[in-house]
Amino acid sequence: MSSQLIRALFLALLSTIVALPVGYFVAHWAGWVLFCGGLGLQLAFHFRNFSRLDHWSKNPVVDDSLEGEGAWDGVFGRLYRHEKDLRSQIAGRDQEVAMLIAAGQALTDGVVLLDQNDQIVYCNTTAEMQLGLVVATDRGQPVVNLVRQPEFIGYLEAGDHSRPLTLRSDRRADRVLSIYIIPYAGDRRLMQIKDVTQTDRLDRMRRDFVANVSHELRTPLTVLAGFLETLQEYDVEPDERKRYLDMMAEQSKRMQSIVQDLLTLSSIESAPPPESDAVDMASMINKLHRDAEGLSAGRHTIVVESDGQGDLRGSEPELVSAFGNLVANAVRYTPTGGTIRIGWKAGPQGGEFSVKDTGIGIDAKHIPRLTERFYRVDRGRSRDAGGTGLGLAIVKHSLNRHQAQLDIQSTPGVGSCFSAKFPPNRVIGL
Ligand code: ADP
Repeated sequence: MSSQLIRALFLALLSTIVALPVGYFVAHWAGWVLFCGGLGLQLAFHFRNFSRLDHWSKNPVVDDSLEGEGAWDGVFGRLYRHEKDLRSQIAGRDQEVAMLIAAGQALTDGVVLLDQNDQIVYCNTTAEMQLGLVVATDRGQPVVNLVRQPEFIGYLEAGDHSRPLTLRSDRRADRVLSIYIIPYAGDRRLMQIKDVTQTDRLDRMRRDFVANVSHELRTPLTVLAGFLETLQEYDVEPDERKRYLDMMAEQSKRMQSIVQDLLTLSSIESAPPPESDAVDMASMINKLHRDAEGLSAGRHTIVVESDGQGDLRGSEPELVSAFGNLVANAVRYTPTGGTIRIGWKAGPQGGEFSVKDTGIGIDAKHIPRLTERFYRVDRGRSRDAGGTGLGLAIVKHSLNRHQAQLDIQSTPGVGSCFSAKFPPNRVIGL
């Protein structure tokens, strides 16, 4: 029997014990009044506490308003503690959910949670940007109503998601997305979206590069193989044989140049940042002048325009290779009788190395693409002049590594000026 029931029976008994003698010795009605008054007081007491409980249960705040009397004190105390525990558990869960949401937002991959009907339950900011979703308004919408590309709908509906879907975003054509569908919690699905634009671009560049290299090497190889076959199978006159051998030597020299330029490019790309040696520009210009004279073999006027002021801080072999390529191009693309000016000037604003020619010039539409590997305005002309199509790519890489910019000014039929502009921190000895 509970203590509350014993207490209630005890109080009823007490009222009876007090009321009985009064009813017997004083008056019946007086006894009844005492008995009913005792029970009434008890009822009023319980009713008061019950109303408090009723009032509190409508707005169960955890404060002093939940204070009971007598037997009700224990009940109220236990309710108070229960409510308090519940609240702290809810607060803990809220914090965990907030942390999970924050972690979802911090992901660099997009995440979309779908329910069993492929309706959006949640998506992070990355997914909003990738797919053009707005979680506030799109929650509860079928994802296929919002991402309408047929290849996406087909992929979502297909049973096999062992491979991701590569999707070219129709909102931003330059973005390439890789979408994974991962089942979770039974029949729900999670979409993980990776932005693979960069990898895709590198992949395409690598494929183009391999195709270009193969193409560039295939031509001289075919010529070489043809001559070899002729020499092996036929009796060729000594004069003719010499002519063939000369042409074979020329083709193998061409292949050597391509391989050499490829090696230079790859060593620049994979090398650590260039050393900061002092590069003596006066002797560099002298050397370039001599090389230009050698390449030109008297066909051009070569002029040096430099006051000998200032040197550069950087990697000498890389700078020799970059400047040498600019000089070689000027000789290559300037007809006989033209003038080539090799210039160097340095000041507080930085240093500028330039090669100016009176050559064939370049149409403006080609200029932005000149530093791409194997890009040539006139393939035949470049090949005949011994070019590989890699010279300006090497120049651009070497200069980038020295924080220098390549500037190209050119007018077809008038000439070109290629300048390498170095920032002040690369110039020394002023
Ligand atoms: P290449 O080995 O063919 O010279 P580059 O990368 O050095 O390759 O140059 C790319 C192209 O830029 C050349 O094929 C040529 O069409 C053009 N070019 C470079 N320098 C000059 C120049 N000084 N005058 C005219 N055209 C040039």
